[in-house]
Amino acid sequence: MNVITDPKALQAQCLTWRNEGLRIGLVPTMGYFHDGHLALMERARELCDKLVVSLFVNPAQFGENEDLDSYPHDMEGDSAKAEARGADVLFAPPAGAMYEPDHATWIEVPELGKHLCGAQRPVHFRGVCTVVAKLFMLAQPAVAVFGQKDWQQLAILKRMVRDLNIPVEIIGHEIVREADGLALSSRNAYLTQEERAAAPAIRKGLLELADRIRAGEDVAAAKRGLAENFAASLPMGEVDYIEIVDPERIVPVEEVDGPVLAAVAIRMGRARLIDNILIEV
Ligand code: AMP
Repeated sequence: MNVITDPKALQAQCLTWRNEGLRIGLVPTMGYFHDGHLALMERARELCDKLVVSLFVNPAQFGENEDLDSYPHDMEGDSAKAEARGADVLFAPPAGAMYEPDHATWIEVPELGKHLCGAQRPVHFRGVCTVVAKLFMLAQPAVAVFGQKDWQQLAILKRMVRDLNIPVEIIGHEIVREADGLALSSRNAYLTQEERAAAPAIRKGLLELADRIRAGEDVAAAKRGLAENFAASLPMGEVDYIEIVDPERIVPVEEVDGPVLAAVAIRMGRARLIDNILIEV
């Protein structure tokens, strides 16, 4: 595996591969790999000839009071894990290499960013779209794999690729979880022992809500029920949102007449945990 830090060097390598007719797979990440990241790499590995994993903690997607400076990192460990999953390149540019001081071009899909995480994090998805578009230009992938844990991000990136005719296939990978149901996240490292012990209540609550919706309970009552559940099961958690949305348009629904996505964000101490469940009725 080759570690590349210079964007131009990555682009040169990937253009060479493309000209040789090779299919490039890309897995964009912010590092501190867990089994969720590794599952994405394994999936991409099956679908391509050359696997590029990017590791870039993208300043443009962090708000002012967010955890950009304290985001966990382990370059050596990540490098070994990516290599073991068959990555051909680990692309790990320094922050300054990805944005010129007078960077002025942004990509946004505002329609899909009004709710869920977009409502709380106003610049977040603009930063995500812009960096992912840049990674697509650099790595020239035929396929890119993203996790369904960040469902809204996945929906936004699919729309960006469709609207801009970017020649890449976006694959969504199911959420990888701990044995007790907690969705894996680099930010789980922020949890205290007590918070970690309570955190599986997020998944349990979502499963319960899905049962209620399938049993015909109305959306408002199901959301209220989940809020009450979290107040009891996660007393140290602060709910950012509990929402039920159209899975593609990411707008809240009042009635269920097709598949819906239930999504939550909970603050616990230093961590902000998100999870979701697709409910097909
Ligand atoms: P991150 O490093 O947090 O930006 O995540 C990089 C990619 O891994 C994104 O596409 C995430 O959606 C995905 N991802 C993160 N956690 C999980 C998980 N538990 N299961 C599946 N994919 C995940």
